[in-house]
Amino acid sequence: MQLSTVIPVYNEEESLRALHQELDAVASAEGYELDIIFVDDGSSDQSWQVIESLAADDPRVQGIQLRRNFGKAAALNAGFEAARGELVMTLDADLQDDPKEIPRFIDKMNENLDCVSGWKQVRHDPWHKVGPSRVFNWMVGRLTGVKLHDHNCGFKCYRREIFDEVRLYGELHRFVPVLAAARGYRVGEIVVDHRARQFGHSKYGVYRIVKGFLDLLTVFFLTGYGQRPQHLLGTIGLLFFGTGAFLLTAMTAWWGISRLDSNVENNLHLTERALFFYSLGSALLGVQFMSIGFLAEMLTAYQSDPSRIFSVRKRIGGDAPPTPPTDQDTRPALQHPAVTESTTADEGDDAPPSTVNESPAA
Ligand code: UDP
Ligand code: MG
Repeated sequence: MQLSTVIPVYNEEESLRALHQELDAVASAEGYELDIIFVDDGSSDQSWQVIESLAADDPRVQGIQLRRNFGKAAALNAGFEAARGELVMTLDADLQDDPKEIPRFIDKMNENLDCVSGWKQVRHDPWHKVGPSRVFNWMVGRLTGVKLHDHNCGFKCYRREIFDEVRLYGELHRFVPVLAAARGYRVGEIVVDHRARQFGHSKYGVYRIVKGFLDLLTVFFLTGYGQRPQHLLGTIGLLFFGTGAFLLTAMTAWWGISRLDSNVENNLHLTERALFFYSLGSALLGVQFMSIGFLAEMLTAYQSDPSRIFSVRKRIGGDAPPTPPTDQDTRPALQHPAVTESTTADEGDDAPPSTVNESPAA
């Protein structure tokens, strides 16, 4: 079975040799046809020199050096483009992800899944990372319907065909399972061993929480409403416009009635009522939401690629080009001779759902 590992590297010179050795040990024990793709994301230390020397000694090692630091999603994308394996695994370069878990990912993939995400149940990270991460995972589950415990985990396994359809940009790498599930791919998770960082330091600070939340909103919009933006924007717009228009009409009627009163003291002056301005604001906001919704619909109508509105699992008969087997009945089991005993480690009371493929919130 051919397996490509994609490893984003940003200033990880001390870890790379050890990681290569660990990957090599797993591949020889399990008989994998492995390629190891290190993507140097503009490191300023000796990471690239280490990658060059590893590639010189081992033909399975490929190196890709980006011109500057483009971020983890870009580095992963560069690696996915080069990956040729039937399966693609991503793992961090800092030795926090243990390559010994790879056979368990592959066992899990054999449960007819297209993507398996790692779950660092016991984490070796500071509290200010672990706490917000829990909240974040819960929110992603609520908003997208993909209930994984650990969306941020860099240790994941994919069938390569996913990358023909899922486009990554910005920092959306942590949402690949969500983007894939939205296209009907089956997603699951396993508990993985997580180790403390031995060398260097984390590349992310607290600001990641804000960026992660904004990305979550984007993914919620793209997966749920990317093909029908007005359903979201128009609903919000109608609510605001409806409320504003109703109140303005009611207040105008009230104004008219108050004019019939001969006592001028009782006349209503709309400009003296705060509610009048709130209603006006609400009606205007509503119209704006709907106008943006129409613009978004125009973009979708004229720009969207027809092949992106669906995803084909199989074709049969006709002149259809043969599709790769992507279902359990036609797909051969992924082979790896030795099966480790730790395969059942994720089956406890707290075990994650084996498949999570609900469609995103509509
Ligand atoms: N990384 C990268 N580009 C960046 C930041 C990080 O390629 O701009 C890599 C980094 O070298 C590591 C992985 O992404 O292999 C995860 O980074 P880190 O360990 O700092 O994240 P954490 O474990 O703290 O979430
Ligand atoms: Mg790390």
